[in-house]
Amino acid sequence: MNELKRALFSVFPSDRVSDDPAILAGYSADSATLPGSATAPSYVVLPKTTDEIVHLVQIAHRSRIPLVPMSRGSNIAGMSVSVQGGIVVDCRMMNHILEINTESGYALIEPGVTLHQLSSALQKKRFFCHLPTATGGSSALANYMMRPSGNFSARWDPDPLLSLEVVTPGQGVVRTGSACFENVGWRARYQCLPDLTGLFANSFGTLGVVSKGSVKIFDRGETDKVLLVSFDEFSQAAEYMKLIVRRQLAESVTFWSWGWNLFHEMTLSKETRIPEAMLKEDQKSPPPGVPFGIASARLSGYEDVVQVQEERCIRIANELGGEHLDDQKAREIHPGCYNYLNGYFGKGVHIKPGEESQIRAGLHLSGCLVTVQPENVAKLEAYMWDLARREFEPPYFFRALPYSHAREFFFAFVVYVQGSLEERRDYLTHIKGIYHQLYTDLRNKFGAVMFRFRKYPEFLSYTGGYGDLLKDIKKSVDPHNIMNPGMLIF
Ligand SMILES: Cc1cc2nc3c(=O)[nH]c(=O)nc-3n(C[C@H](O)[C@H](O)[C@H](O)COP(=O)(O)OP(=O)(O)OC[C@H]3O[C@@H](n4cnc5c(N)ncnc54)[C@H](O)[C@@H]3O)c2cc1C
Repeated sequence: MNELKRALFSVFPSDRVSDDPAILAGYSADSATLPGSATAPSYVVLPKTTDEIVHLVQIAHRSRIPLVPMSRGSNIAGMSVSVQGGIVVDCRMMNHILEINTESGYALIEPGVTLHQLSSALQKKRFFCHLPTATGGSSALANYMMRPSGNFSARWDPDPLLSLEVVTPGQGVVRTGSACFENVGWRARYQCLPDLTGLFANSFGTLGVVSKGSVKIFDRGETDKVLLVSFDEFSQAAEYMKLIVRRQLAESVTFWSWGWNLFHEMTLSKETRIPEAMLKEDQKSPPPGVPFGIASARLSGYEDVVQVQEERCIRIANELGGEHLDDQKAREIHPGCYNYLNGYFGKGVHIKPGEESQIRAGLHLSGCLVTVQPENVAKLEAYMWDLARREFEPPYFFRALPYSHAREFFFAFVVYVQGSLEERRDYLTHIKGIYHQLYTDLRNKFGAVMFRFRKYPEFLSYTGGYGDLLKDIKKSVDPHNIMNPGMLIF
């Protein structure tokens, strides 16, 4: 047994540490890995406590072995796949909700707590948390650390994170937010010193292993309602979304193009094939009787206030050329989509892991995902349809939603990947080739920035003094660059 193995087995019992190739194979790929390009780690460990993580980080720091933190592994950009051997730190057994504090409005959770687990626990107390449209099996904390994330709660408070506990190679255990002081607690992001929670957000495991954190939770109010409005033009929908968020009429709103609405129906069904209607050559025009797209808004609060908000939203939509879809009409047009949008945005509880159709696996979500200012989002849509006509195979579709009080939009143009292993590999290779250049072009043309870091190492060098400062911080926090080096940020 080599020294590293001996050290790992002295910290972890044999059922929570492994170098068995059959087990490691399960950690060697995610949906962004090209078929045939899997890379296995040398070890996987499953810590249960912060102390175990501290020992692990010390061992790795001493031995200069890469550590790859993972909470639930559902990311779609190879972010928790080790590319240099090393040790995957699988935090799924740290899955406890340590506190739900409705008085101060936060929950203290471990990284293995899933979105489904947290939102179900909160629902019993008539509270809810930020929910992205990610799978219910994703870690709430890992998702929130990958900003921008959630779309519920856009009205009040777009950033879900408060305080974090992080184990770093260079500085040991660091607590941020109000938790940096003993006996103050986990309720706040800011105290009298600079904010360090934000440093760890979007660090993708490259600065340390997060062992717990507090996140914002919200009162559900008296009632909630999902308001559906169809639009024939995306520019109208974008203006509608901006106005209803800016005027605080909706808590969150998302626009889904017709292909995505058909896709919603499929995710709730047992169907495993893409229907003919979604494979047509002209992907921009919807099939007869189907609107170009639907904006789904979540309204909540006092019943009488919600009623007024709904009337106002419908009036704004009509003025812009949209049409309100009442329940009956929405069910007629898209029965599955109606159920999906109401279940998710209405009940606020995510579909349980495993309840979705496997069809979702083909959705290549790491497509063109960017954030862009409101005035450019419709121009970006037009640009992407043109590009898609030239470069993609049907089906492809998009969604967009306003973040941060509609200061910017998240725009996701995605493709569906199907066919044999070779066909999928060739198509994904082609897409990857386009996206690298595309992200640069979109920045120059539309001021659009890539959503989540996608392993383009030169990006930090575009950022001037910001990049220099970040590299200095990295040196102090992780002097030997052992934390998730395959992310290629540093
Ligand atoms: C079908 C589908 C739909 C999706 N839709 C959305 C969406 O609408 N919105 C959205 O935001 N996301 C979406 N995603 C992405 C996905 O939700 C997120 O990637 C996921 O929430 C991350 O959680 P995770 O537990 O799976 O993280 P992981 O995959 O385990 O890790 C993600 C990153 O965080 C780091 N990390 C994980 N745990 C720790 C830790 N304890 N300490 C330090 N670093 C850590 C990892 O190193 C990695 O870089 C979707 C994914 C799928 C598969």
